[in-house]
Amino acid sequence: MRRVCIVACCLIGGALPALAAPCPGNPTALGTSRTLTVDTRSFPRIGTMQYRNTLPLGDHEVVITFDDGPLPPYTDRVLDALARECVKATYFLVGTMARANPDAVRRIYNAGHTIGTHSLRHPFGLGDLGLPRIANEVDGGIALVRKAAGDPRAVAPFFRIPGLARSNQAESYLASQRLSVWSADEVADDWHRGITPSQIVRKAMSRLEAKGHRGVLLLHDIKAATAMAVPMLLKELKAKGYKVVHAVPPGERPDMVPDLPATMVAAKQGWPRVTPQKGETTGSVRAMPRPIRVAARIETRARDVRLAAALNKKKTKAQSVSAFKFGGPFSAR
Ligand SMILES: [Zn+2]
Repeated sequence: MRRVCIVACCLIGGALPALAAPCPGNPTALGTSRTLTVDTRSFPRIGTMQYRNTLPLGDHEVVITFDDGPLPPYTDRVLDALARECVKATYFLVGTMARANPDAVRRIYNAGHTIGTHSLRHPFGLGDLGLPRIANEVDGGIALVRKAAGDPRAVAPFFRIPGLARSNQAESYLASQRLSVWSADEVADDWHRGITPSQIVRKAMSRLEAKGHRGVLLLHDIKAATAMAVPMLLKELKAKGYKVVHAVPPGERPDMVPDLPATMVAAKQGWPRVTPQKGETTGSVRAMPRPIRVAARIETRARDVRLAAALNKKKTKAQSVSAFKFGGPFSAR
């Protein structure tokens, strides 16, 4: 079981120092410097973008979070980059995305990352919905992510409101469900139209610096630009002396969740993806909640093809052509 020490953490203000384990195959990896137990009672609301309090991070400490996924192949690329640097992150998964990509959910967990939730369908304006719909989005998202993970204990009581669209009513409901509400300390605008990987890295680094060289950083692992930015970001964090802190819930969690049968994974068309015919969309795109789909449409196809081609450059030429000709998640028109 994954165990964390609540008593020790409380005694030292929520922080549990631990020596970073060596990173196999990468002696100069950024690594994960320590684990931070995030108990809902001590941390009901997190993130100075919206709240008075945030996580008790030290100088040059950062908690990396990813929203809106999972969505192969970008989620896979981000996971690969994190694994190369032995960095642990926190994911806020959307229920319908998790249902569509349960193998990715399990890969995230089994790589040692923390899984929180981000609603059922990612409605914008969640805070303005009536209480029954808020409850449906919160509870429904948790239920689908738990089911996709294959073990309810794998899902932390961490929730990020879609679009950070908070309201007193939404926060009251989340508190009644004993969920920590995660805002963020910094964003890198990685959902913006036309933003490049380099710009994402620059924004992340400058905003960390502006907030006292620390913070909870919000990114999106469903974006091609973000998938390209993450390796650069980790390199930059290392160069600037930052350390990554892994946020975990208190209590016991399973070491691993069962992988899905290979036949189920294969049936979902992993990497490389099959190029859909004109007018078709991939399964992953169809699975995207409408608000995410709409936001995705503002991306230009040309940019996605260019970014995806760069992402895919280590693949064979034949794979590159078929995998990303029109297969990116932003190609639905
Ligand atoms: Zn989101």
